[in-house]
Amino acid sequence: MEERAVLDMVRQRGYRLTPQRRAILSALCRSQSPVSAGEVYDQIKHLLAGTSVDTVYRNLNQMAEAGIVVAIHAGREVVRFELQVGDHHHHFVCLACHRIFCIPLCPFEAPVSVAVDGHAFKVTGHSLEVYGYCSQCEPSEEATSDVRV
Ligand SMILES: [Zn+2]
Ligand SMILES: [Zn+2]
Ligand SMILES: [Zn+2]
Repeated sequence: MEERAVLDMVRQRGYRLTPQRRAILSALCRSQSPVSAGEVYDQIKHLLAGTSVDTVYRNLNQMAEAGIVVAIHAGREVVRFELQVGDHHHHFVCLACHRIFCIPLCPFEAPVSVAVDGHAFKVTGHSLEVYGYCSQCEPSEEATSDVRV
C-alpha cells in the first residue's frame, strides 16, 4: 500500500504520528510480507538516533492496540507485524524457516455473539495461525492436506 495513503489513514483516526512511528509505518509499507521488530529496526536505525529494538517493538504493539497494525503470533509470542489494511485474513507460520505467509482466506464464519452456559459474549474478532512447513522446507512428500490459495 502506498505510504501516503497509510499515513492519511492513520491521521484520520486521530493517531499521533511521531517521527519514529512514521519511520516504522514507512518500513511496513515497503515490506511485501510481515516483518519482525528487528527487521523494522534494521531499516530505520540510520534515520533515528537513539532508537532501540525495544522501542520499535513497543511502538508496534501500541499501533496494534490502536488497530493500525496487526500483531502476528506464533504460540504466545508476537513475532511479526503487518499493516492493518485490506481484507481480514490469516497467516501460515513455517516451523522450519519461521517465515510467515499471508493466507487470504478465513476458515470461520465468524459469529458476532456466542452464548455458552448462559454467558453471552460479544465477538469483536479472532486470530488464528496455521503452522507447518513451507514449500522450501517441507521435510517429505507425505504432506497431508494442503491448502492452495
Ligand atoms: Zn520454511
Ligand atoms: Zn497478512
Ligand atoms: Zn478469520
